[in-house]
Amino acid sequence: APRKPARKKVELDPRFLSYKHVWVYIEAERGEVHPVSWELLGEGRKLADQLGVDLVGVVLGPPEARTRAICEEAFHFGANRCYLVQHDALRDYRNEPYTKCLTELVDTYQPEILMLGATTLGRDLAGSVATTLATGLVADCTELVIEAESRCLASTRPTFGGSLLCTIMTQRHRPQMATVRPRVMAMPDADASRRGEVIEHAFSIVETSIITKILQFIPDDTRDKPNLPFADIIVAGGRGLKKPENFQLVWDLAKVLGAEVGASRPVVQAGWAELDRQVGQSGKTVRPKLYIAAGISGAVQHRVGMDGADVIIAINNDSNAPIFDFAHYGIVGNAMQILPALTEAFRKH
Ligand code: FAD
Repeated sequence: APRKPARKKVELDPRFLSYKHVWVYIEAERGEVHPVSWELLGEGRKLADQLGVDLVGVVLGPPEARTRAICEEAFHFGANRCYLVQHDALRDYRNEPYTKCLTELVDTYQPEILMLGATTLGRDLAGSVATTLATGLVADCTELVIEAESRCLASTRPTFGGSLLCTIMTQRHRPQMATVRPRVMAMPDADASRRGEVIEHAFSIVETSIITKILQFIPDDTRDKPNLPFADIIVAGGRGLKKPENFQLVWDLAKVLGAEVGASRPVVQAGWAELDRQVGQSGKTVRPKLYIAAGISGAVQHRVGMDGADVIIAINNDSNAPIFDFAHYGIVGNAMQILPALTEAFRKH
């Protein structure tokens, strides 16, 4: 467990008194909201309650009914208020108009905290907004805590290749910005009866001033791609399976359980599984109800991607393997015998 060092207490800088409320950027592409936005609203609600401020969703998009409807969904997931900007230049994501729009909102309404998903889009937008505003940004956070006296956000993230966790505080700037990967925070329950206030912000930009042009929109065909972050059950295999043929045993168990297949990095690097199946620091973060890890040692870089699972079952022939330190159930033995035995047992049920 990470040891929390004692920190020097810092008083709130009077320059920051005008900065209020916790904001979450609601990421939507072609009207489809990325679920990380709802996860961030769940986390944002805790921070806003601690600070005694509002939780605000920021919705940017084209002038269409769907864009406004996203605000209603944000209220269901806990936002009290939404800033809504509708403009044709915001139809498809482009860095320049989105950065201009979000920085304008921040300058006008002054949030204390601004959170975005650490998605491809969120990372791009967060970086350019933070540099434009000359404020601090902590990327890929795994934990967000408020320090009571200073109202500072203490953001924890892995560092040194995931071997250490560091806590970073943005004491000298506002807003305090953070990105969080999908599935790191729990999905809050939606309550369709919750309502909030929509504040429309008039934004103007001249299309000819935007360098990036969208020539064609080609949707990413994700139908056949694994969706590990949102799978309920994952069976994952590691280097302990010894050879690619044995990785089929993982597929067999996954099939009878209706599970997705995951893998450790060496397995992906060896070409036994696709990159989309890699779980861990440089792969996917997952949060299934059940994670079965076969022949995986439990290195910290793998652990950070899967220890949010409700139940972890580890199969390893070394009773001292680190994975047994955090697995809920452990089976000490040869994965090449245990995996087929489990497949057979579940097939009968
Ligand atoms: P090993 O560590 O070799 O473990 C194999 C395990 O199988 C051992 O515990 C062994 O006891 C067991 N075993 C052996 N034979 C059997 C058997 N017959 N039956 C049952 N068990 C058996 N790793 C990731 O997974 N995901 C990442 O995203 C990731 N990102 C990284 C990023 C960086 C910057 C770095 C430096 C490393 C990263 N790694 C990542 C690599 C990570 O450090 C580990 O090397 C990796 O997770 C180990 O994979 P493994 O558990 O499959 O293999």
